[in-house]
Amino acid sequence: MTHPKTERTLVIVKPDGIQRALIGEIMKRYERLGLKLVGLKMMVPTESMIENHYLIDPNWKKNVGEKAIASYVKKGETPPNSDPIKVAEAVVENLKKYMTSGPVIAMVWEGAHAVELVRKITGGTEPRSAGVGTIRGDFVLDSYQMADGDARAIRNLIHASGTIPEAQKEIPLWFSHTELISYRVPHEATLYDADMRSLIG
Ligand code: GDP
Ligand code: MG
Repeated sequence: MTHPKTERTLVIVKPDGIQRALIGEIMKRYERLGLKLVGLKMMVPTESMIENHYLIDPNWKKNVGEKAIASYVKKGETPPNSDPIKVAEAVVENLKKYMTSGPVIAMVWEGAHAVELVRKITGGTEPRSAGVGTIRGDFVLDSYQMADGDARAIRNLIHASGTIPEAQKEIPLWFSHTELISYRVPHEATLYDADMRSLIG
């Protein structure tokens, strides 16, 4: 069995994250947790890259549509459409415009529970309801209501893989094998060594 410390996840600082000058703030959050950066690049994505990225998971449309509708219902508001697939199709079109509107930074972070912990720090999809202390909750204020009303994607600064299988499919879309670097940092001994007594002289 591979050790949990080898888990990897994809993070993308979206165009609004770059424009808001939050690159360092965002990277700091993952880095200080103990995760290790193993891949990094800046680019302006193409629309086909964004379509491939979001449609790589066959369940994504259904999940996105249902999540959006549930969010409206919870707030006592009316969703723009009651069919989750229709909602998701509009989201994909809006995402293509949003994600190709400027440079993004793609990163791969490695460490135990990387997928789950990056999602926890990043916060929920909608900044309006994302938890206090999360990046999306603390640094931006967008909502389903505002974004759908203006026919655009929710501006939430970051993409982060939702599950381990999603991360495994997404990472190769953004990074070739040789662009991901395996290396060690000293604090991994404190995080992961079974016996810490080796640390005293
Ligand atoms: P994430 O994993 O939290 O990023 O969320 P999803 O994978 O469900 O959706 C991908 C991205 O599409 C989100 O980060 C938002 O930018 C955008 N988005 C998702 N759902 C909606 C929606 O219902 N309306 C709008 N306008 N944008 C959405
Ligand atoms: Mg997602």
